[in-house]
Amino acid sequence: MHSRTRAILVVLIVTIMSASVLLPAQASRSSSWVEPYREPAARLVGEAMATPFAWERLAYIGDTFGNRLSGSQSLEDAIQWAVAEINKDGLENVNTETVTVPHWVRGQESAEIVTPRRQRLVMLALGNSIGTPPAGVEADVLVVRSYEELDAAGSRVKGRIVLFNVPFTNYGETVQFRSGGPSRAAALGAVAALVRSIGPAGLRLPHTGSLRYADGLPQIPAAAVAAEDADKLQRMQDRGTTVRVLLKMEAKFLPDADSFNVVGELRGRERPDEVVVVSGHFDSWDVGTGSTDDGGGCVVSWEALRLMKKLNLRPRRTVRVVLWTNEENGLRGGLAYRERHKEELSKHVLMFESDSGVFKPTGFGFTGSDAARAKVRDIATLLKGIQADRISAAGEGADIGPSVQAANLPAMSLDVDGNYFLIHHTEADTIDKIDPMDMSRASAAIAVMAYVIADMADTLR
Ligand SMILES: [Zn+2]
Repeated sequence: MHSRTRAILVVLIVTIMSASVLLPAQASRSSSWVEPYREPAARLVGEAMATPFAWERLAYIGDTFGNRLSGSQSLEDAIQWAVAEINKDGLENVNTETVTVPHWVRGQESAEIVTPRRQRLVMLALGNSIGTPPAGVEADVLVVRSYEELDAAGSRVKGRIVLFNVPFTNYGETVQFRSGGPSRAAALGAVAALVRSIGPAGLRLPHTGSLRYADGLPQIPAAAVAAEDADKLQRMQDRGTTVRVLLKMEAKFLPDADSFNVVGELRGRERPDEVVVVSGHFDSWDVGTGSTDDGGGCVVSWEALRLMKKLNLRPRRTVRVVLWTNEENGLRGGLAYRERHKEELSKHVLMFESDSGVFKPTGFGFTGSDAARAKVRDIATLLKGIQADRISAAGEGADIGPSVQAANLPAMSLDVDGNYFLIHHTEADTIDKIDPMDMSRASAAIAVMAYVIADMADTLR
């Protein structure tokens, strides 16, 4: 959009939102207590929508640092850059909180069909997997569509490379084959595991992600293959063809490394010890640029504070942004925060995390008391203008989880409308999949929600 057109639009939006205070029909739809927040909310939305600042910051992160796996230099460089930028934004108590993180590296890797004819398979090792011997692991493939088929195969699993070919339904249902499948196959004597990528079939993209080896079972190398490759192996098996695959992976763990959760604040003007946390995880997988998962979530959360600061809106309570480290293959950032802040967790009034991508925001998921939910619904009426006013059943986030559970805190997440799992954990997770206006809308929505929750007379709890 032309910048002058955009500026005019923004003025229009702000005018309409401010004017709605005067409309009795609008007022009757929301509780009167939020009416005084209509003006600051309109200013936050206007400021967020006026420029593509959030998108440009995210583009810079991806272009400059690339992907940011725990233990990598790129993550640590990005963290140091973020600290400097948060300071430049004028936020307070900017700090790095040390977290010891695992340092897994992928190395070179390949998979190919060797019998009946040499053909490359499109693959990515699963995070935290062991590697193969230098010569690789070569074995006949056994394709299964479920754990029932695996168990029914019984002794035929021994010595095989097992492929879990389970079509994607939703993440919760299918991710178990990535995280737990390799150990289930190892228990029956498999020598390696392949997993159909956890995501809708796209353009032959493999999706990485972490596995978890079960205690007391042999650890076998494991990789994801593109859906198209999984289907090919399935068809060949169904025709009675014996398929032999050679898997080579250099994956391994290096010694644990130091990393950091980055924290910055806008101190509360009246009750600074009460804290609203907004957050995303700054680490990513080692493919793509981690723009959707979860650089975008970091930037839009961080934007909430930058926008308040820029507009001189200092709420009653403290708003704290946290950029978590090590969500993807350890969750040690979230666990370290719970330990380090355990004395003040009872003073946290809300923990928010954005980790579902920054596509068109539709509203928020919220977990908390009925009274708190009613308040959140009231606040959401301020976001009708950008159509981000829906409050859904559950708010959650991997990194906020440990603290939320430890102190039974209200939890919130950003709901978005987008095809997150198509590019999740792939080389295609890059900035071009993200609309600058969606990032501005998401920033606006989080800023308004966080500002009012931090400022309102009652606590959310
Ligand atoms: Zn994520």
